[in-house]
Amino acid sequence: MSALSSLSPGEGAASSASAPAVKPLILPGATLGVMGGGQLGRMFVHAAQRLGYFTAVLDPDADSPAGRVSHHHIQTGYSDAAGLAQLATLCAAVTTEFENVPASALQTLAATLPVAPGAAAVAIAQNRIEEKSHFTASAGVAGVTCAPHAVITTQAQLDAVPADLLPGILKTARMGYDGKGQVRVKNAAELAAAWANLAQVPCVLEKLLPLKAECSVIVARGWDGAIVGFAPQHNVHVDGILAITESFDGAMAPALAERAQAAARAIAAHIEYVGVLCVEFFVIDDGSEHGALVVNEMAPRPHNSGHYTIDACDMSQFDLQVHAMAGLPLPVPRQHSPAIMLNLLGDIWFDAQGQARTPDWAAVLALPGAHLHLYGKSDARSARKMGHLTITSADVASVKATARQAMQILGLPGLDALS
Ligand code: ATP
Ligand code: MG
Repeated sequence: MSALSSLSPGEGAASSASAPAVKPLILPGATLGVMGGGQLGRMFVHAAQRLGYFTAVLDPDADSPAGRVSHHHIQTGYSDAAGLAQLATLCAAVTTEFENVPASALQTLAATLPVAPGAAAVAIAQNRIEEKSHFTASAGVAGVTCAPHAVITTQAQLDAVPADLLPGILKTARMGYDGKGQVRVKNAAELAAAWANLAQVPCVLEKLLPLKAECSVIVARGWDGAIVGFAPQHNVHVDGILAITESFDGAMAPALAERAQAAARAIAAHIEYVGVLCVEFFVIDDGSEHGALVVNEMAPRPHNSGHYTIDACDMSQFDLQVHAMAGLPLPVPRQHSPAIMLNLLGDIWFDAQGQARTPDWAAVLALPGAHLHLYGKSDARSARKMGHLTITSADVASVKATARQAMQILGLPGLDALS
């Protein structure tokens, strides 16, 4: 954090060229660890194992998606001293798949082995207030701003909220994901009631913006400051949860894509980030042809919007996570096929009457270029991420046509939102 505050915008990128010589080189055969055992951990484990690494997952859940496929599963809480000690003994380096892992646990591990991303970067991503100051200090170099907002931690701050931030979205500073911890408020009375309902925890009130589109950028930064990235992808959310990611020529206006890429790199460089970072952006209607970019939030790990990279690129976001933490070179990834990723939430495991059913996998798997990823979760629940389906094809028209077919077969929402 002290390194962060001593940097002015742009300095991060410059200083990365002379980053400290702490770069490890951890070769296949070693054991790589991950904090968290969800689907992101599972896909990390698959990528690491394919390269010949052994893997260790720390997650309290006996039945976690990553724990079930890893060589080692340490089944303790994230702050459990014995669990962390065991992970440190087993592993040559540790990463995280879950941004709410206690930063102190990462700090503990970092005393004895390389941890990427580091505790300071994860701590920023865990707190919307700190995240917004970081964006203001870093993305500004690329001409990208945050949504107009106010920090609300006291009654006085609540009372002083400028009227032009309303209508807005009140977001808890910590522990929000998939639209949880967010309340839309139209006026000061609703804002006060919403903050009371959230037990007056620290929050950020963001102005409700006229979104034209949403996109995200995934970059990977090495110990030596080298950065590579994927082209920005276009994301469609339904009910606050990512439903569709599109990645192909034309999914994003090139001018916006370039600026988003530059902002994401500045955000990563400014905190000397090591690992895979996803930065989410809004495209807002400002009257210009393509709209303006607003940076929303970052995830200190691979991201749901980057799952298409497994099937559509020569290196996936999880391959880059392995490379970055292990100190391996970071080749520039190349997308070889247009792709559309469809999230599979637990809702499709139920019919209109609420009766349990099995989605028609056979019909979906008959589609050309359909790559089904199920995370091994036994209990389907509404809004729970159970898997995803990536459609790849030789051209954009056919990837869209096949995605439509898949959405119809599975009864997925968002058909109208396909570009
Ligand atoms: P996740 O972790 O799944 O990305 P989250 O719970 O952290 O989500 P946000 O990314 O802040 O939440 O918001 C979820 C969605 O709500 C956004 O993708 C966007 O569709 C909508 N949204 C959030 N903030 C705003 C805003 N200021 N104006 C308009 N829409 C917004
Ligand atoms: Mg988000």
